[in-house]
Amino acid sequence: FLEGKRALVTGSTSGIGLAIARALHAEGADVILNGFGDAEEIAQLCEEMGATHSGADLTDVSAIEGMMKDAGGVDILVNNAGMQHVAPIDEFPVAKWDGIISLNLSAVFHTARLAVPHMKSAGWGRIINTASAHSTTASPFKAAYVAAKHGIAGLTKTLALELAEQNITANCISPGYVWTSLVEGQIPDTMKSRGLTREEVINDVLLERQPTKKFVQPSDVAAMAVFLCGDAAHNITGANYEIDGGWTAQ
Ligand code: NAD
Repeated sequence: FLEGKRALVTGSTSGIGLAIARALHAEGADVILNGFGDAEEIAQLCEEMGATHSGADLTDVSAIEGMMKDAGGVDILVNNAGMQHVAPIDEFPVAKWDGIISLNLSAVFHTARLAVPHMKSAGWGRIINTASAHSTTASPFKAAYVAAKHGIAGLTKTLALELAEQNITANCISPGYVWTSLVEGQIPDTMKSRGLTREEVINDVLLERQPTKKFVQPSDVAAMAVFLCGDAAHNITGANYEIDGGWTAQ
């Protein structure tokens, strides 16, 4: 049902973003991928989806501007690229703080400001932001991530209100722990920060938060993104959908 719609999914060379890109492609959207990775693997993904790819580093405003210019009019904007760093506040590297705020939060402002003019003139648009359970709750040692994700939730509500009468919706999807490289990558630092083994981190820190004791799958998040693009979701805006196994119900 998305034939003729152009979808840009940031951070779509792996994990959640890749699942969203595949799901939008399956519904007929023309997909633009973004993210880092092995050139050959990215070329394969482009072939699989008939997609194009931008390698723009979204911590760099001029790279975002270049990507948005090359993309042309974007009907569906999925802001998904993100990174994590786990460290106590008094040891938190300043460069990591700056990088996480610029990728996980400021990039969303930049892509949105550049995508909205086309959406307004087309009279239709969907902005979907991958936030996190950390957009409404906190965990220790994740200062930058939690701050950025709370920020993205507020920014999304603002976009929703500004664009409400223009048939452009803006929503967040907030996963709990999804088994991707982002989660796997934080295990060693969490082991160090909390003095735990790998198994203890997985069972006592990660899954401890999720009453269902199951990791969320990237495809679960993708299904919600597809739903938000559909006609049935035309009046859903400013929402923040948790897919977190009950984490934020506690
Ligand atoms: P991932 O590491 O598998 O994917 C991250 C993607 O972002 C990759 O495509 C990577 O190349 C890209 N990326 C990284 N830095 C970039 C940069 N500077 N410029 C452009 N692209 C860049 O991670 P994921 O788990 O799929 O995470 C995707 C989103 O989901 C993130 O915003 C993350 O915060 C959010 N999230 C993840 C979880 C989880 O448990 N995995 C939970 C809640 C929210």
